[in-house]
Amino acid sequence: MKPIRILNVCAEFAPLAKSGGLADVTSSLTAYLTSQGHEVRTLLPHYSIINAEVSSEPAALGPADADLGGETVRYAARRHADAAAHGELFLLECAALYDGGIYGSGEREFYRFALLCRAAVELCEALNWTPDIIHCHDWHTALLTTMVAAARRAGGRFAGTQTILTIHNIGYQGIFPAHMLAAAGLQALEPMLNVDDAADAQINLLEAGIRSADALTTVSPTHAREICTPEYGMGLETLLQQRSDRLQGILNGVDNEYWNPATDGWIEHNYSKETPADKQANKQALLDELGLTTGARTPLLGLISRLVGQKGTDLLAAVLPDLLRQQRLGCAILGTGEPTYVAALHRLAKEFAGQLVFVDAYDERLAHRILAGCDLLVVPSRYEPCGLTQLYALRYGTVPVVRKTGGLADTIRHFDPQTGRGNGSVFEHANAQGLHWGLTTALDWYADSTAWRQLVANGMSEDFSWCRQGGEYETLYRKLIEERRIH
Ligand code: ADP
Repeated sequence: MKPIRILNVCAEFAPLAKSGGLADVTSSLTAYLTSQGHEVRTLLPHYSIINAEVSSEPAALGPADADLGGETVRYAARRHADAAAHGELFLLECAALYDGGIYGSGEREFYRFALLCRAAVELCEALNWTPDIIHCHDWHTALLTTMVAAARRAGGRFAGTQTILTIHNIGYQGIFPAHMLAAAGLQALEPMLNVDDAADAQINLLEAGIRSADALTTVSPTHAREICTPEYGMGLETLLQQRSDRLQGILNGVDNEYWNPATDGWIEHNYSKETPADKQANKQALLDELGLTTGARTPLLGLISRLVGQKGTDLLAAVLPDLLRQQRLGCAILGTGEPTYVAALHRLAKEFAGQLVFVDAYDERLAHRILAGCDLLVVPSRYEPCGLTQLYALRYGTVPVVRKTGGLADTIRHFDPQTGRGNGSVFEHANAQGLHWGLTTALDWYADSTAWRQLVANGMSEDFSWCRQGGEYETLYRKLIEERRIH
């Protein structure tokens, strides 16, 4: 079959710029599509934290100037020198806007990502390349779907191009004062964006993308249904219901090469599902590294997470003291986030020194070591579009304890010691009682070594790689291309 030309535009891309699962998914999906022979080009901002070698050729786009919010900024896009596995990767340079990390704050965010969308359009012109599909991710690039829809009305390069917006996290929508559109030279889009005339009118970029994109996806089938309800739709449920014929859930895939305990260079002892007992050595190494004194026989619970309300960090902080007092577990927590959760975890670490360690950092190496060294990994999310850490935990023989929501519900099945089926502990309600039940149930299984071995083996036998899921994106891309051809 003919290869598909795909332009992928995103705010995060692992390992260059990662704050969470978005980076893992844009990167691993691109690698999968490239491996299937498709022509994939990706554009992301060259934040100054990115340490990447760009090609010495002249810029693929620019240098050019843009007027944004009364300021003239200079930008250019250059090829990443070494990214063959990911097709072609372009980094958008703009020292005035991308100095620092991935996300900033305030109104400047609008200009940073409006420039990314605009540069995506211009890059296609500069390369004289017409993608079949433009794949946008989250609010940061949602406006690009509106730009393409507007450009298509005028005919030209994008007449045959289809857009997809993937909603990785509906909790972040990109809401800004509407007057910023004109300040970014984008007033022509106003009629397509439902902007009212009030002086304090706002634009919601994710909403704009949901209106304009030719197809909408989110990252698990259950979450696709959830976001059409008031409980999970975050105010966008009515619009999503109206567009539900264009919405589908495609589960995220795992890069099985990278998240592989048999080859992982960050862990002390490599192991596989044939040698699960070797995992023990990683547990001891982690206990030693973190100064935990709970010992090899006590179950060790891990958490690797952004520390925000969505992730249920407060529920964990409420439930742990009892379990720690009863000496039922040790705990290794890695995360960064909101100050109240950070402070609560620091307090716990102080009160239960030797039993609970909290590392307030973003640390890729430690994330791998926690996955390899812990017996259990907890994901107590209030909502979870897909969730990746529970999938990584399965690979590393670490039993996930998850709330039944979104992608967690689609990937983790509650274990039944009678039948030996299931791959984790699944609790229903996002409250302390629910989480307590999920954890104590898993701890009871841990005490039964035969049941535990079976549970670990079940998890390690799962396959959530892109080889299993990636085909769904290819099918969707081809369906969209066919629709465009017919109309
Ligand atoms: P989300 O995208 O909502 O943050 P996911 O479970 O989909 O949640 O993905 C989280 C990703 O970010 C995983 O790769 C996880 O290992 C990583 N991660 C989260 N916090 C940290 C941290 N403090 N240090 C290292 N990796 C982290």
